[in-house]
Amino acid sequence: MTDLTSLTIAAARDQLAKKEFTALELTEAHLAAMDKAKDLNAFIVTTPEIARERAKAADARLQSGKAGALEGIPLGIKDLFCTEGVQTTAASHILEGFKPPYESTVSQKLRDAGSVMLGKLNLDEFAMGSSNMTSYFGKVKSPWKAKGRSDDLVPGGSSGGSAASVSACLAMGATGTDTGGSIRQPAAFCGIVGVKPTYGRCSRWGIVAFASSLDQAGPMTRTVRDAAIMLKVMCGHDPKDSTSAPLSVPDFEAVLKQGVKGLRIGIPKEYRPDGLNAEVAALWDQGIQWLRDAGATTIDISLPHTKSALPTYYIVAPAEASSNLARYDGVRFGQRVEGKTLDEMYAKTRAAGFGTEVKRRILIGTYVLSAGYYDAYYLKAQKVRALIARDFNEAFEKCDAILTPTAPTAAFGLNDKQDDPVAMYLNDVFTVPASLAGIPGASVPAGLNKDGLPLGLQVLTKRWDEETMFRVCQVLEDAAQFPLLKGAR
Ligand code: GLN
Repeated sequence: MTDLTSLTIAAARDQLAKKEFTALELTEAHLAAMDKAKDLNAFIVTTPEIARERAKAADARLQSGKAGALEGIPLGIKDLFCTEGVQTTAASHILEGFKPPYESTVSQKLRDAGSVMLGKLNLDEFAMGSSNMTSYFGKVKSPWKAKGRSDDLVPGGSSGGSAASVSACLAMGATGTDTGGSIRQPAAFCGIVGVKPTYGRCSRWGIVAFASSLDQAGPMTRTVRDAAIMLKVMCGHDPKDSTSAPLSVPDFEAVLKQGVKGLRIGIPKEYRPDGLNAEVAALWDQGIQWLRDAGATTIDISLPHTKSALPTYYIVAPAEASSNLARYDGVRFGQRVEGKTLDEMYAKTRAAGFGTEVKRRILIGTYVLSAGYYDAYYLKAQKVRALIARDFNEAFEKCDAILTPTAPTAAFGLNDKQDDPVAMYLNDVFTVPASLAGIPGASVPAGLNKDGLPLGLQVLTKRWDEETMFRVCQVLEDAAQFPLLKGAR
């Protein structure tokens, strides 16, 4: 029998329907793989009992012909999604032991569709980071290694546990969240597909908030089709989130094979700065050629405010984070360190509960929102954000989709860039503009560099046009024939 863990979601769905194996067998295969790959540290908590129970229930529904869209499919859930009765930490000490009495809308939808939760996936603390090195529960290792080398690499972040687990075939898919690139960059580093939908497609209800005007959930999978299948289940209007869009959900899977013939693909010159990594640039050129070969036309476009996106993001996101994280005060959630006065209790709890990067963001955020600096930083950043969104609006009058690299480099070493926050922030240079504009973006694994490490290409489209994004992604995937780990397909 083939290794069940290397199947795609689409293949497993069809084979489960034909009763070629059971959901319980599929789940057991994944639980065994997780056990063997503990050193990756991809999961903060595993939930084998819940998984077996849900797999059995899935088998019953498959038997009675009442299967949901993800019936029996084992998935990992990023530990930023509240899961009823199961510890949810955001990878922070301050939330250690917190068991939410409710389920996030997105994880509930996945559950209602019959999927099986394998556990809660590791991430950067409060999703702040690009390496998964800031987790209180330890770093995550990428399952990839450079050719001929044994040193460990980062899986990217913040959805590093999600990317590592899907890439290593511990889960068939995983949820991620993306505030400035946290789905797309780790997907690129681990050679998988990551989709950040339009802001407002997925409900944020029950997801631990980082920067509310940017946070979006999305799927991380090994193929474009699997991402389309998962996203369809994850999104849809939710009255519990005021920014959730009251739009019907397209059948993303149905458009995958429509191709790109006649589409106009924009190539933004600002994403090719002097000194861009030569292999990243070459892969981008290759991607352009693949789309042309498939019948698209490519046009040079300009997104003039691109250079301001990173500084803008690193004002807006910390500002919102400083406000969102005010709720961790030792009174309502998680950890508390007693003090002689209420203020001292707050201070001690927050000093002990938050890690260095989270504290840095709270300090930056509080600073840019303070009375004396609000206009100079926060208000200015809001204005620049509007200009970045306008750049995209204008570009999409000339093109249907935009192609760029996902990240400026391949994965780096597990202990690199730790002492230099700015070097870490530079990872997000190609992903944050789309986050600030609220437009959808996906990363598709497109090739390997000379060290044998994955590189991704990013596809951006206008708001609510995930269908075009998926069509372009499918063409890139078909052309790239990317060598997934374990030969999974
Ligand atoms: N790396 C970015 C940051 O640290 C993005 C994180 C995210 O998208 N959650 O803020």
